[in-house]
Amino acid sequence: MVIAIDGPGGVGKSTVTRHIASSRGLEYLDTGATYRAAALAALRRRADLDNPAAVIEAVADAKIDFANGAVLLDGEDVSIEIRTPQITAAASAVAAIAEVRTIVVAMQRSWVERRHGKAVVEGRDIGTVVFPEAELKVFLTARPEVRAARRAADPEADGAAVADVRAALDERDHADSTREVSPLRPAPDALVIDTSDMALEDVIAEVLEEVDRRSNRPRLH
Ligand code: C5P
Repeated sequence: MVIAIDGPGGVGKSTVTRHIASSRGLEYLDTGATYRAAALAALRRRADLDNPAAVIEAVADAKIDFANGAVLLDGEDVSIEIRTPQITAAASAVAAIAEVRTIVVAMQRSWVERRHGKAVVEGRDIGTVVFPEAELKVFLTARPEVRAARRAADPEADGAAVADVRAALDERDHADSTREVSPLRPAPDALVIDTSDMALEDVIAEVLEEVDRRSNRPRLH
């Protein structure tokens, strides 16, 4: 089964996704990492991010893959390099270009196909666009101040002040939710969980319960 986990930044998506995948013996795909790799490809090929044609050409030329939790760009593990604030901002910009999404989404679908449709896939548009037929769609939310505090506590934030993290998150949420192509929003049939006042273990337990309920559900013929 395809399990789609969508939501904005700082909501706990990655942690939840990894737990669900490991506890049910499934592989996971971090689609945010694939957009980050696309951004890195554009920067490495010296494409001007304000020039969509140049970005599209760079992304079309790049080979992006995801294996064992690592994202590969042209065969090189770039998992660490894609986590800088510069790439975070660039990823959101390149992800707003429709043709970039077409290329990256094709890679995501073929990745899942090669796993015979058995995977946990996290992102922004998985339940709405990439796998609208996913057996389970989860949309995680949390109040902005809670997400900013969680992000600031992440080692990746490197001690940044909560206010700065919040400003960057707000800006990215706004861009991701208001873009024309595949904006961030829950699928109509998604299980929406507000994680603001929940421990992540409880979020994981709730999602796992739903995974098991759906996988035991008798199929209608
Ligand atoms: O999840 P992460 O923060 O790594 O995502 C980086 C950026 O990639 C997001 O801000 C968003 O613009 C883009 N993204 C997307 N669709 C996805 C996953 C990520 O547009 N499915």
